[in-house]
Amino acid sequence: MSDCLFCRIIAGEIPSSKVYEDELCFAFNDIAPQAPTHFLVIPKAHIPSVSAISAENSAVVAHIFEVIAKIAKEQGLESYRVVSNIGEQAGQSVFHLHFHVLSGRDMTWPPG
Ligand code: AMP
Repeated sequence: MSDCLFCRIIAGEIPSSKVYEDELCFAFNDIAPQAPTHFLVIPKAHIPSVSAISAENSAVVAHIFEVIAKIAKEQGLESYRVVSNIGEQAGQSVFHLHFHVLSGRDMTWPPG
């Protein structure tokens, strides 16, 4: 989608600090990190949020979680949190499916 920020990052039209890329997904550091490690993993296909995951497109989600585990292992992350916000009330500000990976500080539960 030409008007989607994350589609434009995938296309290289907007610069990003890339962490990982393959044919299905892209990972890059969050521009406003909320922890010492904070990167986002997104599908290359435009999916608006978790709410739009279906039998037709869910394979990429399994792939993304494999990639998260691989990057975490490579970066030596022993404890980390994976978050996806769905809808404005939950804090979603970019409507292209993304998984935040946060690590490197104490975290509270439940989240605020
Ligand atoms: P959310 O609020 O859950 O939709 O997450 C969107 C995330 O994208 C936020 O944590 C933003 O800091 C991050 N973000 C927005 N623009 C950029 C950008 N150009 N590069 C990297 N991260 C971004």
